[in-house]
Amino acid sequence: MEGSLTARDRVGIQDFVLLDAYTSETAFMDNLRKRFNENLIYTYIGTLLVSVNPYKELGIYTKKQMDIYMGVNFFELPPHIFALADNVYRTMISETSNHFILISGESGAGKTEASKKVLQFYAVCCPSTRLLDNVRDRLLLSNPVLEAFGNAKTLKNDNSSRFGKYMDIQFDHQGAAVGGHVLSYLLEKSRVVHQNHGERNFHIFYQLVEGGEDELLRWLGLERNCQNYRFLIQGECAKVSSINDKSDWKTVQKALIIIEFSEKDIERWNTFFCFLFLHFLCFRNPCLCSIYHFQVLSPFTAEHAKYARDALAKAIYGRTFSWLVCMVTWNLQNLLFIKTVIGLLDIYGFEVFDMNSFEQFCINFCNEKLQQLFIQLTLKSEQEEYEMEGIEWEPVPYFNNKIICDLVEEKHRGIISILDEECLRPGEATDFTFLEKLEEKMCGHPHFVTHKLADQKTRKTLERGEFRLLHYAGEVTYSVAGKLFNVATQFKSSLAGLTEILMTKEPWYVRCLKPNHCKQPDRFDDVMVRHQVKYLGLMEHLRVRRAGFAYRRRYEVFLKRYKALCPDTWPHWKGTPAEGVQRLIKHLGYKPDEYKMGRTKIFIRHPRTLFAIEDAFEICK
Ligand code: ADP
Ligand code: MG
Repeated sequence: MEGSLTARDRVGIQDFVLLDAYTSETAFMDNLRKRFNENLIYTYIGTLLVSVNPYKELGIYTKKQMDIYMGVNFFELPPHIFALADNVYRTMISETSNHFILISGESGAGKTEASKKVLQFYAVCCPSTRLLDNVRDRLLLSNPVLEAFGNAKTLKNDNSSRFGKYMDIQFDHQGAAVGGHVLSYLLEKSRVVHQNHGERNFHIFYQLVEGGEDELLRWLGLERNCQNYRFLIQGECAKVSSINDKSDWKTVQKALIIIEFSEKDIERWNTFFCFLFLHFLCFRNPCLCSIYHFQVLSPFTAEHAKYARDALAKAIYGRTFSWLVCMVTWNLQNLLFIKTVIGLLDIYGFEVFDMNSFEQFCINFCNEKLQQLFIQLTLKSEQEEYEMEGIEWEPVPYFNNKIICDLVEEKHRGIISILDEECLRPGEATDFTFLEKLEEKMCGHPHFVTHKLADQKTRKTLERGEFRLLHYAGEVTYSVAGKLFNVATQFKSSLAGLTEILMTKEPWYVRCLKPNHCKQPDRFDDVMVRHQVKYLGLMEHLRVRRAGFAYRRRYEVFLKRYKALCPDTWPHWKGTPAEGVQRLIKHLGYKPDEYKMGRTKIFIRHPRTLFAIEDAFEICK
């Protein structure tokens, strides 16, 4: 516990809700930095968990730590991802309800690590049934398989997920983990054929070349040297010091066996590799192409032929990945015993590059949608809780990004609809006619800018083939080049599907922050973190949590924790918990405007009030 004043000065406050100057971003940052410097990477905003990537092993994810956090009240131990996982689990059991944990943050902020920790916690800590003992292993091992195919080294993260992932962990009526179900979103297929400098292709290729058995490589006609394959060395960084491709290959092979991929499946998989080495294909002169030692004459120009080859390679990789996700799910899911589920959403964060293409457009739209969901659910649930408990609510002003979501997805008028219309005019439509249409329809929209529509100040930085969206998280300039090959509608409907899945469950949030650009421990870049705090809406969330009542506790829980502070309630209170709490706070001298009694909970307006009682509790302990 961080109860004493000196400790609080040194390590900060473990819940931002308790911060005195809660509206001040500076105070927020001070607290975050203080804690980070003490290796305390987790802080709450109520039940939302803020996490700052330490970029070093802290020894806080051991089995011993799991045991410490298992079954303990959320507030009683220092903030931790295990505390959140445990809280979600216990709420699920006690209310027989479905939940999801939304993990967000920019690339390299620690989302995937956080989701793995949650999965580990459930796999290790939940009761098991002997029948389904290997479910744990399967759940855990689904990760290395999906990561091998879906992750790659990027400039921002050596193990960057290049797809969005939603995983349901399925529990039976006894709370045992009995299976899982995985959905994937928008794999970055372009990586198969193109990587920027300092980036790699998907891990699996390097694993195969480095770790694949001699016989397999011979069968595939491959050599054990990445340098021989152009599409593995475009980024000039085939070797990454933090990655051991050889041993990762072994892990993936073992995982495939435990997840029960059959020999036939694995064989199919090898065939896929053969296809991908289509990249062996090279074009010497316009109508001659060669693969291995064969030469084929084709009527295409070299340019066309390259384009077709790349499109084929991307399509094959994309389909293989979807097949893999289906296979993993097929072998994980339990159709018989499911009572409840906890969903884990680890989705790519908001992305801004120098050149932003269609993929970034989809990724950032996805983030807009999730922010919208966050706004709806946070405000909605807050409002509902006050209503249910019979407490008056004061609404908080906040930026609603619905206007940007509509700009992208609105029927007949949004960017995606316009893109669809243009795609229906083959031969006539081009990237530029699309842009013209956008200019015509979006003229005057406060979140849309193009070269033509830009004011003098911004025009300089916008080229002719670009448009700029003012996202909730910042400005992004997109190139229209190639956008007419449209899968946006498909993506839009898969996002709508995801939103539907999430809306039926209770939300929990983990907001991951990246402390610096250099992937280094003990470096806290103030400007960078402040920007993330802003666009992740943390201050707004804090204000919402504080607007009405900073804290709320069920009567039983409140009484159990603080009953020693009043002689009437200690050691046993014989009446109802609500009466006990009333007696207790009377004894503590709470003024009427400091708290409200709801139907099942006590609501405390100012954190200071809670501070006082926490301090008294510490002394009394
Ligand atoms: P994201 O999924 O948000 O892009 P990752 O979860 O892959 O980011 O994290 C990037 C890297 O940061 C990891 O490979 C790991 O080295 C480090 N990292 C992230 N979270 C932690 C943590 N809790 N403790 C130690 N290192 C971490
Ligand atoms: Mg990730």
